[in-house]
Amino acid sequence: MLVVMKREATPEEIEAVVDGIEQRGYVARPIPGGERVAVCILHNDGPVDGSSFMQLPAVKEVIAVTRPYKLVSRESQAWDTTIDVGGIRIGDAKLTLMAGPCAIESKVQALTIARIVKKAGAHIFRGGAFKPRTSPYAFQGLGEEGLKILAEVRSETGMPVITEAIDHELFDLVEHYADIVQIGARNMQNFTLLRRAGKSAKPVLLKRGMAATVEEWLMAAEYVMEGGNDKVILCERGVRTFAHHSRNTLDLSAVPVVRQESHLPVIVDPSHAAGFRDQVVPLSRAAVAVGCHGLMVEVHHAPENAMSDGPQSLYPAQFADLCKQIEPIFNIYKMSNKNPGP
Ligand code: PEP
Ligand code: MN
Repeated sequence: MLVVMKREATPEEIEAVVDGIEQRGYVARPIPGGERVAVCILHNDGPVDGSSFMQLPAVKEVIAVTRPYKLVSRESQAWDTTIDVGGIRIGDAKLTLMAGPCAIESKVQALTIARIVKKAGAHIFRGGAFKPRTSPYAFQGLGEEGLKILAEVRSETGMPVITEAIDHELFDLVEHYADIVQIGARNMQNFTLLRRAGKSAKPVLLKRGMAATVEEWLMAAEYVMEGGNDKVILCERGVRTFAHHSRNTLDLSAVPVVRQESHLPVIVDPSHAAGFRDQVVPLSRAAVAVGCHGLMVEVHHAPENAMSDGPQSLYPAQFADLCKQIEPIFNIYKMSNKNPGP
């Protein structure tokens, strides 16, 4: 349930609503809007009788929230969330491009790729320092050394960096270095990790699990928001199907559904969906056409020597070409879809 305050409500009147909710044994979460504040009621098992809140001063209306992912839902926030990462506004009127190698392999490798992707138009540099690998014998990432290289890339190029925290014990370390902390597909329902991410002041990019429904994905995002972190970015990266022509099947139908259901920004990762670089550019065009807020793409200057995910990593020229191709598609999408402001 959402208790919507009148535009002129004072902080004391909002506090009185919060107290009233807490006295009934629930948790209150004020959601500031452009014009007015709404207070969301959390942790209620069944329906709440909203009529008593209508008696309180400066309460405009009481609205039922029907979705189980309350804070994530457009029912509690009608307008799009935008997340500022070092001056780059994810979810805003510009497409956000995140690009870089699968894994940080060395300072020279990371800086070489960072300069290439920045020149082509990328805004945020990606690269794994801790890698969740299927095989325990595969390259596991450089660990903290990789995080330090990411920090150097940021200071030398000015690009914010995104990297994955593969468990809650490593979260402190990753959060210290990263501008955005990534939660990988294999960890989408790692609830200890989600709760830790909920306590972070850093934005979190939450990948969809490879066997997760949209509802499960949004519920995972709810864990992070319920913990107090409202800077959540969703990332569609393909789900597992019977197909063998690609690594996963990119579920582009999830993008308009999630945009309708949620106010959170949605990014598409065509690289992990495809598994093969030749599919990445066409899938990127399609992702932009269906309304994603940005892309996360793997790029390597020498993919044949990459320590992980070489076959899906774009050559620099392919990435530069992709950046040019998606711009007009994004403009067409923007012209035909207007979202409400706060
Ligand atoms: C990654 O982006 O580095 C990654 C491991 O992706 P996913 O979790 O989608 O497999
Ligand atoms: Mn990868």
